[in-house]
Amino acid sequence: MSDSRIRDVVIVGGGTAGWMAAAALSATMGDQLRIRLIESDEIGIVGVGEATIPAIRLFNGLVHIDEDEFIRATQGSFKLGIEFQNWGRIGESYMHVFGQIGQSLDLIEFWQYWLRGRREGLAGPLGEYSLNETAARAGKFGRVPRHPNGQLDGIAYAFHFDASLYARFLRAHSERQGAVRTEGKIVAVNRDPETGFVRSVTLESGEEIGGELFIDCSGFRGLLIEQTLETGYVDWSHWLPSDRAIAVPTANVGPIRPFTQSIAHPAGWQWRIPLQHRTGNGHVFCSQFMSEDEATRILLDTVEGEPLADPRTIRFQTGMRRKAWNGNVVALGLASGFLEPLESTSIHLVQNGIARLISHFPDRGFAPTNVEAYNRRIAYDYERIRDFIILHYTANQRDEPFWRHVREMELPATLRDKIELFRATGRIFREQDELFTEVGWFQVLTGQNVVPETYHPLADQLTRDELAGFLNDLRTIIAAPVSRLPSHAEFIAHTCAAPAA
Ligand SMILES: Cc1cc2nc3c(=O)[nH]c(=O)nc-3n(C[C@H](O)[C@H](O)[C@H](O)COP(=O)(O)OP(=O)(O)OC[C@H]3O[C@@H](n4cnc5c(N)ncnc54)[C@H](O)[C@@H]3O)c2cc1C
Repeated sequence: MSDSRIRDVVIVGGGTAGWMAAAALSATMGDQLRIRLIESDEIGIVGVGEATIPAIRLFNGLVHIDEDEFIRATQGSFKLGIEFQNWGRIGESYMHVFGQIGQSLDLIEFWQYWLRGRREGLAGPLGEYSLNETAARAGKFGRVPRHPNGQLDGIAYAFHFDASLYARFLRAHSERQGAVRTEGKIVAVNRDPETGFVRSVTLESGEEIGGELFIDCSGFRGLLIEQTLETGYVDWSHWLPSDRAIAVPTANVGPIRPFTQSIAHPAGWQWRIPLQHRTGNGHVFCSQFMSEDEATRILLDTVEGEPLADPRTIRFQTGMRRKAWNGNVVALGLASGFLEPLESTSIHLVQNGIARLISHFPDRGFAPTNVEAYNRRIAYDYERIRDFIILHYTANQRDEPFWRHVREMELPATLRDKIELFRATGRIFREQDELFTEVGWFQVLTGQNVVPETYHPLADQLTRDELAGFLNDLRTIIAAPVSRLPSHAEFIAHTCAAPAA
């Protein structure tokens, strides 16, 4: 091997992003790299970010995490999807669940039959054809890799977890795999005068830590990528104008739900994330349309249990770094950009950034074409997720000024085209390897009352009786295994309950 191989990697920051990077690099390249992570207890971590999507299970596999041990250590619970309340119109609700819905037939997706079935009064609510939604609505959970009939997928799931416990869990895991942690506040970043590359960081103690590749996981401040390299930020607040969140944990009330809740309010929305020891809550809102006091009052009026701490405010600006990788610095997590947590995508974007970094792993030459290719892919990933999140806002029929504003704003062309195509034809096409699948888009479009003018002509191949039979059989087949599942709480109690605090 050439001697231009990178040996010293420095990760700046020990939040979710930093420790995920340390865990993944130590698991996959630990025999080639010296991995050092610097974090400051005085600064701390953002401490939110507690809902995930199923891809995190791939990450757990990659870094050799035992799922039950991980849930136990993080007071975690299982997530089958998200329930959206009041998003289309006040009083309405729908779910965006993971996994398959119905069954495709003769080259076309299930939902084309469902659209025809709805028109003809033959189809029930979409969720009745989803194993995930049927289980979620019944408060049940089980690990069901395939539907017992062998034809349909099983239950697709992700997790809710306590963000601080997750960082602690990943830290122990990474240290066992050889990553070295240094506690201390970075007070200076030192650059090579010729190349501009970051050569070392200096801690408050005076210690200087050098490296060849720096991974900036320092949170919103972007200590290396922005404060040092001045990379720049692509601002998306004209499309996603929410700019603050008030967060408060509360005591649990009733059995813990196997899904996240997202409840729209007059100028934003509220999350409810059930954990074993508490519920995480937050109100994301737009400060142009609502004061912080009012947002706090709405949150405290609508949480279900007793608050366990004072509410705290987090400010943000939606958008992404102009380049996630600049010189010898790769930004991950909040240092790389921010999309609000409506579809729990930030932790996924960390995972995605790490996976792409491993596949584009550089040598000390830092080939510009490699860096540019990485940046193009990251920008694409961000933009497609951005469009999906904007869809939730823009497809509303509510009457408050904030909701009128987001309904009437000009959309990114990519999103506008997708919505128009769906309205005109009932078709949705997933582009390249964008994160959200057609069925995810369909659930949100339909849930928020975007009704297509037509459906695929192949759905007319079935007679009316055949269609009724197909839809009824599917409903029965899907409901059957759910009746045999334990409740979510029972499942946790038997497999992965955290020890009593
Ligand atoms: C309101 C809100 C809700 C969210 N909800 C979700 C969700 O449900 N699902 C999801 O996937 N994501 C969510 N996210 C995003 C998620 O929280 C983050 O992606 C994730 O926590 C990663 O954060 P981070 O590690 O980048 O930053 P941080 O947690 O802020 O960590 C930064 C680290 O850098 C260190 N640091 C900074 N400066 C210095 C310095 N000078 N010297 C030494 N160390 C330093 C800090 O000590 C800390 O260790 C949410 C975000 C917000 C704001």
